[in-house]
Amino acid sequence: MLSEARRLFKMDSTQHPQCAFPAKLRDSSLLRHQAFIGGEWVGAGDGAVIAVLDPATGTKIGDVPNMGYEDTMRAIALAETAQKEWAARPAKERSVILRKWYDLLLANAEDLSAIMTAEQGKPLEESRGEIAYAASFVEWFAEEAKRTYGDVIPSTKPRNRIFVLKQPIGVVGAITPWNFPSAMITRKCAPAFAAGCAVVVKPSEFTPYSAFALAVLSERAGIPAGLLNIVTGDAASIGKALTQSETVRKISFTGSTRVGKLLMEQSSSTVKRVAMELGGNAPFIVFDDADLDVAVKGAIGAKFRNTGQACISPNRLLVQDRIYDAFVEKLSAAVGALQVGSGFEPGVQQGPLINEAAVQKVERHVTDAVSKGATVVIGGKRHPLGNTFYQPTVLRDVDDSMLFSSEETFGPIAAVYRFTDEQDAVAMANKTSAGLSAYFFTRDLDRMWRVAEQLETGMVGVNEGLISNEVAPFGGVKESGIGREGSRYGIEEFLELKYVSLSQYSA
Ligand code: NAP
Repeated sequence: MLSEARRLFKMDSTQHPQCAFPAKLRDSSLLRHQAFIGGEWVGAGDGAVIAVLDPATGTKIGDVPNMGYEDTMRAIALAETAQKEWAARPAKERSVILRKWYDLLLANAEDLSAIMTAEQGKPLEESRGEIAYAASFVEWFAEEAKRTYGDVIPSTKPRNRIFVLKQPIGVVGAITPWNFPSAMITRKCAPAFAAGCAVVVKPSEFTPYSAFALAVLSERAGIPAGLLNIVTGDAASIGKALTQSETVRKISFTGSTRVGKLLMEQSSSTVKRVAMELGGNAPFIVFDDADLDVAVKGAIGAKFRNTGQACISPNRLLVQDRIYDAFVEKLSAAVGALQVGSGFEPGVQQGPLINEAAVQKVERHVTDAVSKGATVVIGGKRHPLGNTFYQPTVLRDVDDSMLFSSEETFGPIAAVYRFTDEQDAVAMANKTSAGLSAYFFTRDLDRMWRVAEQLETGMVGVNEGLISNEVAPFGGVKESGIGREGSRYGIEEFLELKYVSLSQYSA
C-alpha cells in the first residue's frame, strides 16, 4: 500500500528523475530509476512514479515507476519464456553464472552498501554486513545448483524401475520487505535461479534502489534477460497479478503476517505453492546461571541491530528473578552508550526507523506498557534528531498484559520481563502466535537441550544473539511462516518432485 508520505508524481518516465542521492558512488550506473522487465529498464505503462525518501532526512532520493497489474503480467510472460531456456541449460552453467553474480556483488559492495543506507537508513557498517550476507546466498546456491540429486527407488514390480526427478517449479513471484532490502531478494532469487526458475520480484516501495542495483549486476554476470524482473509500484495490484496468474507457480513472500495471510488466501485460487517468511515475537531468555556480560552482548546484537527492525529481533527479554536487577543495570549501561544518527556518520550504531509510522508504533507500545506499570530505565522518547528517530530504550517490569506480548514492536526497545523458573520461562516464551526465533543464555548443558527442544520456534540461539547465515535453514513455525530459506533445504522450495515409473516390455 502506498503510504501518504510517498506522494505520487505523474511524469514522463523516460525523463531522468532529479536525484538527491546522499553519497558518492564509485559506479553511478548502479543507481537506476526504472524497473527491470525482460532485460530492459522501463517505466510504468502510464508513466506514473513513486518518490523514494531518505528516512534519515526525509529528502527525496529519486522516483521509481509506479507499476501495477498490467506491467506485472507482462513481466510474468517474459519470465515464462526465459525460464524454459534457462532450465534447459546444464546445472553447471547456471552455477558458473551465479558465481559471477556473487563476485560482482562483492566487487561492488561499497556502492551497494551506500545505496542501502541511503534508502533504508541502517548504519553503513550494517549495510556492508547485509551485502556480505546477501552475497553469501548467491555463492551457496551457485554450489547447490549442481546437487539437486533425484532418487532411484526399488520397485514393487518386476522389470520396473522407479525414478524420482527434481524439476524447477517454474516462474516464481517474490515479494520482499524493506528491512533487509538486498538479502531478502538474494535469499529467494539465488536458490530459484540455481533450481532453474525465473523470478518476478516486487521489492518494498521504500527500498527499490537496492533491488535495481542487484539487477544491474545480474545482467553483467550473464543472467539472461527475463530471468530476474523487478517490478515496483502498487503492492496490492502487483500482488494480485502474481497470485492470480496461472503461470506463476510459487509465491515466496517475506513480510508481515497480515500480508502473508492475505497472499495465502489469494494464492489459493490457483493452488500455488507458498513460502512465507513472516513476523516474529522472539523471546530472549536469560537464566540465572548465564554469563551476564555474554547475555548483554547478545541482547545488544540481536535487539538493536537494524534499530530493532528485524523479524528475529527479541521482542521480549525474559530474565530470571535472581539476576533481574543486575541484568537490567548492565543492559541499560550498554544501551545508553549506543550512538544514534544518520547511517552515513562514522561510529553510528542506531539509524532512523523507516518512517514516522514506525516511530508512532514504538510510542504506542511504550505508552501502553508504562500505563500498565512498566518503568522506563533509559530512553523512552523520540530522539531530538528528527521525526524518524527514537531513543534506544530499556523498559523494566514488563508483563503479559502489555502490547509487546502480542505485537511485533519493530523498534529499539528492550522490554524486560521477569520469570521464576525454567518451566515458567518456557511457558512465557511459547505464549505467542509467532514462532520464528528464540534465544536463551545458560551454562547448564542439560538445560541447553531441554529448553532448545521445548521452544516452539523454527530457530534457537543458545548463548548467542546473531544466528543468521547461508548454511542454516531460516524460517518459522506457527504464524511466523511456512518453508525454509538458505541451507541445503532452501533449494528444495523451488523444485517439484516427479516420479517416473519405467517398465520394460515383458521378455
Ligand atoms: P509488509 O508490510 O508485509 O510488506 C512486505 C512486502 O509486501 C512489501 O514489498 C510490501 O509492499 C508488500 N505488500 C504490502 N501489501 C501487499 C499486498 N496487499 N499485496 C502484495 N504485497 C503487499 O512488511 P514490511 O513492513 O515491509 O516488513 C516488515 C515485516 O516483515 C515484519 O513483520 C518482519 O517481521 C517481516 N520480516 C520477516 C522475515 C522473515 O524471514 N521471517 C524477514 C524480514 C522481515 P510495499 O512496501 O510497497 O507496501
